Amino acid sequence: MIYSLNCQNYINGQWLDARAENILASHNPANKTEVVATFPRSQVEDVDIAVAAARQAYQHWRQVPAPARAEYIFRVGELLAEHKEELAQLISREMGKPLTEARGDVQEGIDCAFYSAGEGRRLFGQTTPSEMPNKFAMTVRMPIGVCALITPWNFPVAIPCWKAMPALVCGNTVILKPAEDTPACATKLIEIFAAAGLPPGVINLLHGVGEEVGKALVEHPDIDLISFTGSSETGAYVGATCGRTHKRVCLEMGGKNAQVVMEDADLELALDGAVWGAFGTTGQRCTATSRLILHRDIKEKFTSMLCERAKKLRLGAGNHPDTDIGPIINHRQQQRVNEYMKIAREEGAEILIGGEIATEGELKQGYFFQPTVLDNVTPKMRVAREEIFGPVVALIEVNTFEEAIAILNDTKYGLSSSVYTRDINRAFAAMRDIEAGITYINGPTIGAEVHLPFGGVKQTGNGHREAGTTALDVFTEWKSVYVDFSGSLQRAQIDNRG
Ligand code: ADP
Repeated sequence: MIYSLNCQNYINGQWLDARAENILASHNPANKTEVVATFPRSQVEDVDIAVAAARQAYQHWRQVPAPARAEYIFRVGELLAEHKEELAQLISREMGKPLTEARGDVQEGIDCAFYSAGEGRRLFGQTTPSEMPNKFAMTVRMPIGVCALITPWNFPVAIPCWKAMPALVCGNTVILKPAEDTPACATKLIEIFAAAGLPPGVINLLHGVGEEVGKALVEHPDIDLISFTGSSETGAYVGATCGRTHKRVCLEMGGKNAQVVMEDADLELALDGAVWGAFGTTGQRCTATSRLILHRDIKEKFTSMLCERAKKLRLGAGNHPDTDIGPIINHRQQQRVNEYMKIAREEGAEILIGGEIATEGELKQGYFFQPTVLDNVTPKMRVAREEIFGPVVALIEVNTFEEAIAILNDTKYGLSSSVYTRDINRAFAAMRDIEAGITYINGPTIGAEVHLPFGGVKQTGNGHREAGTTALDVFTEWKSVYVDFSGSLQRAQIDNRG
């Protein structure tokens, strides 16, 4: 049955329309005419109300014991598990990814819930000896306050969970501003948070346009922290504005991830990794394999294996059981990927397979793009340097392992990376020398687990890591506490040493 959802904002425990009557819509990227949801175009006044609610709720929420806060998140995890299939179907319909991947998107939320809930009974600080007698020293984590979470469409459930769950366990209140392309996924997710019984104002949802409601959040004087995942351009603006308005900010931006295949690699294994890394989620993951750096001895053979396999990938709607590759998220992004084909040709790259918008049969109803392999790519070409965010992989030939690592590192980004080799020495050299937040040995560039830090070096991020215990560093501040039980004024060593 084709139905369209009427999404609302969620503020202070209530579902509300925006103050302005302007309504936007999200569409099924596999079928442009199908409206998945309508959602409000929130304005500055809506932001003000949500911020006031989150601010008020914070005063109470920060004092709820962390293990009790964590129990709500545990409940969210249970509810996500109960509603997994329903959510996955919606993700597939609104964002386009194949159902198997959509289930993974929800599973990541579930994993994150149980992992974050466990942190409610840890949130460890340190105790350490004092310089002074009869004095006790320790560190404790404090929540930061009201956090605005600005999220993209490519993991419409997992990414909001990654941000909201640790933020809440740490004692913050949150306002989620999801991407314009996936409002229904965000709404269903927040329904689950609401059903878990979180007190009013602890979690809020504001729909709308990034340049309007997102911007208003970033500039709002009463927000303490922005956690952003999205494009480098928007991230640069968010970072600059947070600097100007003195907010904490965690940025997760672009990538230009590479997989190296050395001449000693298990080629079948490397092929499985390359196909999944480059074409999984239609290449629309921040960690997607966008460059394949191939040793010259295996380049020809590996290239023909890759093209052979890529040609067999079946494009289609995400909820169709035979689909390997879903659509691109929207028309703008499809055009952008197509534009890179022109750039590739002009720069002298060769399109081995794909390179075009896919229009056969039902595909013309959506935003599909053929899986594409670009050959004769040199490291300075734009297609080797810029994030394309589509099912496109660039092949670069190298003569040595050292050259492979140097080219892998020759990018302004540094999110994920991968090396296929059977040589233990090369594997360890790669782990040491690759400039990236994530390195896989004999695995593709995609496949992060929620209990390990996620994030990148250089222009991918701003030094923070999401997931794992490192997420706690984003959502808490350290306080050092000294307790003097000597009964007299004890000056610190800097003040009492001659
Ligand atoms: P993408 O290319 O993935 O759409 P964006 O960076 O444009 O990347 O979007 C990521 C998120 O940032 C979305 O939720 C979007 O609405 C939001 N956004 C876009 N522009 C702004 C802005 N100027 N200020 C705050 N948020 C924004």
